[in-house]
Amino acid sequence: MLQRLLKLLLGQRSLRQAVPDLDGLLADPAGRLAARAVTIRPPRLWWAALAALAANPAAGWLLFESWLAVWIGAGLGLVEALVFLLVLPPKVGTGVRLDRDGLELSRRGTVVRCPWALFAAPGSLLDESGLVVLVPIHPGAVEDIQTWRPDQPARQGDPDPRLLKIGPDATARFSGFFSVPAGALFALVRRLAQVLAAGTPQAAPGLAPVVRAAAAPAPLAPGAAGPALGAPVAGGWIELPVVGLIFPAECSDCAAPTNQVLEFAGGVRFGWLLRLAGGDWAVGLQVPVCAACARRYRTTRRRGIWLGLLIGLGLSLPFAVLGLGLDEIGRAMMVVLGLILGPLVGWVVASRLGLPVHLRRYRPIRRTVQARFKRPDFAGRIQRGAG
Ligand SMILES: [Zn+2]
Repeated sequence: MLQRLLKLLLGQRSLRQAVPDLDGLLADPAGRLAARAVTIRPPRLWWAALAALAANPAAGWLLFESWLAVWIGAGLGLVEALVFLLVLPPKVGTGVRLDRDGLELSRRGTVVRCPWALFAAPGSLLDESGLVVLVPIHPGAVEDIQTWRPDQPARQGDPDPRLLKIGPDATARFSGFFSVPAGALFALVRRLAQVLAAGTPQAAPGLAPVVRAAAAPAPLAPGAAGPALGAPVAGGWIELPVVGLIFPAECSDCAAPTNQVLEFAGGVRFGWLLRLAGGDWAVGLQVPVCAACARRYRTTRRRGIWLGLLIGLGLSLPFAVLGLGLDEIGRAMMVVLGLILGPLVGWVVASRLGLPVHLRRYRPIRRTVQARFKRPDFAGRIQRGAG
């Protein structure tokens, strides 16, 4: 709920909202992009501006109960709203354009253009709390990245580091304030690149795409995948690098062939303490999960919420109705507890049930995370690409 409000205030949308014809684009990338480029504009902070306009005068009244404070609050709110609308978005917001030839990022007049071949590299991407995305790249295509800045001539192969930094380990570090989740955006870019980079000479031959399409050859036979990746840790956990993983082209749960992925999050150690304080430091790993399994997890979560609500009310209503030694406030508190705590516990428990992978202990400096897979044979066939 709080997160949803924050998203609204920050002008965030889902990828599906930003790209209405997402399914058509995925089905026929070349055709759709040849007809029309896809643009995802930088986030707009309309709601943040509105909130500033409303909250400041309200705070003036609540704190001081004077009309003067309300007027001062209104003035402050207006200044903040103008900052949100006119100053911040062009400064930090990053616009995205996808067309037949590649991906274009723009911020404050600086434009960086990446060819599709850059993204035709195997391995998983790293999405660190949506702020930084590390993407495995094909190093041969770096020299084809173009940069334009308003006051300088165009550059080739030397991208603007504020938008894109090339790492030493065949990864690119994208940072920006996008209006869509950065991890989902670059997952889309990589899926498009698998198709669109194929015709260009820069594409490295024989590089397996991140997750193969359903029509791709059958998953690797056990033992054919080379040495197993991931050092075993106690209790069935293995330690995996977070960038450049290549998963078998099948659902990590039911083993059906799939090209769909689901993002699983793993926090740093004691990350729950950070979460209590309102922040989090987590890594998002995109693991193959078929549509049917993803639907099943959603159903489980929904049932967990309802069951939690029922149990919560079942436990709290007797106190609320009969009193059982509680005063009026105590009775009301019990109902509120049942209504809020029950569904919350139900959701937390149900959202951990039946998942094909659990992640924990993300180590940002070593760039590793501990994972426990439901199917050890799936874990045993994970390979390392770039990164
Ligand atoms: Zn499945």
